[in-house]
Amino acid sequence: MSRYDYDLFVIGGGSGGIRAARLSSNYGARAAIAEEKYLGGTCVNVGCVPKKLFFYASHFPEEFNIAESYGWNVSNEGFEWNKLINNKNKEIKRLNSIYQKILVDNGVDVFSSHAKIIDPHTIQVDNKKITAKYIIIATGGWPYIPDIKGNELAFTSNEAFFLETLPEKIIIVGGGYIAVEFASIFKGLNVDTSLVYRGPLFLKGFDNDLREVLSNEMIKKDIELIFNSNIKKITKSGSKISTELGNGKRLDATHIMYATGRTPNCMNIGLKELGVELDVKGAVKVNSNYQTNISSIYAIGDVTNRVNLTPVALAEGNIIANNLFNHTSDVASYDNIPTCVFSQPNIATVGLTEDEARNKFKEIEIYKSSFTPMKLTLTKNNEKSFIKLIVNKKTNLVIGAHMVGDNAGEIMQGIAIAIKAGATKKIFDSTMGIHPTLAEEFVSMRKSE
Ligand code: NDP
Repeated sequence: MSRYDYDLFVIGGGSGGIRAARLSSNYGARAAIAEEKYLGGTCVNVGCVPKKLFFYASHFPEEFNIAESYGWNVSNEGFEWNKLINNKNKEIKRLNSIYQKILVDNGVDVFSSHAKIIDPHTIQVDNKKITAKYIIIATGGWPYIPDIKGNELAFTSNEAFFLETLPEKIIIVGGGYIAVEFASIFKGLNVDTSLVYRGPLFLKGFDNDLREVLSNEMIKKDIELIFNSNIKKITKSGSKISTELGNGKRLDATHIMYATGRTPNCMNIGLKELGVELDVKGAVKVNSNYQTNISSIYAIGDVTNRVNLTPVALAEGNIIANNLFNHTSDVASYDNIPTCVFSQPNIATVGLTEDEARNKFKEIEIYKSSFTPMKLTLTKNNEKSFIKLIVNKKTNLVIGAHMVGDNAGEIMQGIAIAIKAGATKKIFDSTMGIHPTLAEEFVSMRKSE
């Protein structure tokens, strides 16, 4: 008989935590999970899932316009924000209960409460002390708003999913995934949209061509992009929000949203008292086995602030369950993680940017193609798609793939497999295209720059 109540106790029922608990239980571990807000975490409740639903909603006006050029008589008679919110809420509720069922069916005990670690093997939940051989912290992250005057007037992506009314005019602050995605969503829903970013061009870290192509496309869609600027102060009078920019200019709106990053969720779970080491940004420090400085306590996902993406948290959940309860010693591979920004149009990427490739390899080849997608040829829509491959000249290996265009995320998933498998440019070239598609461009580019 074990001296502990559980073999594993997970704090945080998001993507990584649920995966770790469920899989550990499948391997025979006695597992429990505590989640105080909503099962499914950020991704399911206030992240990837509702964002993608909003993205779909916001793309319809463009589709209606395209349809007209194909002979359809479409009456685009308005949009009901409340209907979208209600339908989205119903779907999220359905997913919450599926997660509950999956956990219970797999033998995991679920505590819908706050949990706090009080010693290396003890967690306090609902005034009860529960012991576990291992504890995993999987508490995710939380949106961060900089400390400026009037910041209480701003909301974040958490609230954007529940706004009572669709804004008339919105200012979105930030230049990362969330800012760019929400700027596209609100504009697509016909909201007058300005994006304010402190740097010279948004989406720092992505390939520069992608950043430029996307900014041009967003400008064409009448999104106001204000770069090299930051907001100093926010005030409100009636329903009008006024902001003062660093350059002294004023920008007014009815709503202001901050998408200025997320901080690891380490508050009030006992980490400080116990001496669990955090890094300078407040993220839980872990070794390559996700172990903290306290050997029975592990951490995975956004709370470790490494690669803050759902599939990465899931992979970490898999690995930790395998290693703790299935006698493996797997390590995650963080190379060539594909990613997509669900802007309009999408951008997606895998592997190195051109700058990274130039720094890493002596000689590289760059293949680029910019073109009008076939679907738009009958229309007045002048959106361009863009595809870029980066090749190590010495080995002929494809080391980076980048795309702006419809369904870029769907396409990049397959390209990522090829790159992960070590495909050379010759293999790309010898692969038959699927005609006519956007994606065939990846196997048709013959001339490097
Ligand atoms: P990001 O870290 O991607 O971007 C934060 C942005 O805010 C950056 O442009 C940053 O500027 C800016 N910023 C930070 N601090 C300040 C400040 N004090 N004043 C003004 N601007 C500031 O965060 P997001 O919130 O967009 O997203 C969080 C994470 O969630 C992402 O990194 C991503 O991992 C994940 N995510 C993934 C999605 C996907 O896979 N499609 C979708 C949404 C989120 P600078 O660039 O100059 O540092």
